[in-house]
Amino acid sequence: MTDREELIRIVRGDITDETVDAIVNAANSSLLGGGGVDGAIHRRGGPAILEATRELRATTLPDGLPTGQAVATTAGDLAARWVIHAVGPVWSGSEDRTPLLQNAYRSSLRVARELGARTLAFPAISAGVYGWPMDDAARIAVSTVRAVLSSGVGSVEHVRFVLFSDEAFDAFREAAGE
Ligand code: ADP
Repeated sequence: MTDREELIRIVRGDITDETVDAIVNAANSSLLGGGGVDGAIHRRGGPAILEATRELRATTLPDGLPTGQAVATTAGDLAARWVIHAVGPVWSGSEDRTPLLQNAYRSSLRVARELGARTLAFPAISAGVYGWPMDDAARIAVSTVRAVLSSGVGSVEHVRFVLFSDEAFDAFREAAGE
């Protein structure tokens, strides 16, 4: 595929239903579980995911995963092969944390490339408990992923943004120009 419009799809749904190679989790730095999409992924994926993140904390990531970075684990019982845990920034009204949100998407794509993943699904990172305004979160997400995909580097051929609410779905469609 060469047309970048074909590389990205905006869909409404539950990311734990996705059959892509890897789904991205809007994780927190502890990697030890949270609410929102993180809670849903651990519930549906079973204990293997938490075992894997505990192992990471005990070995390579004793202080947790810094904001803007991403790391992969098994997807446990999910249909996907991997979960890529990415830490988005908490929204701030006084400080522009856009680069950190961009990094969360870029790091996820880098990890996907290292895994050899061809299909990838993202939630709206930082747009839940972390409070990022949805329209802005959607614009940053779509433009950042498009830029990486259109550079043509790596294995990822198809990215799905899987949005859980009408508000998120509409914001991402708008951001994608649909
Ligand atoms: P953050 O802490 O990064 O804000 P959240 O998990 O609180 O992460 O929210 C991120 C987005 O994921 C929100 O828009 C939320 O509605 C959405 N979300 C929650 N559960 C799911 C799910 N099962 N599939 C896809 N998106 C989900």
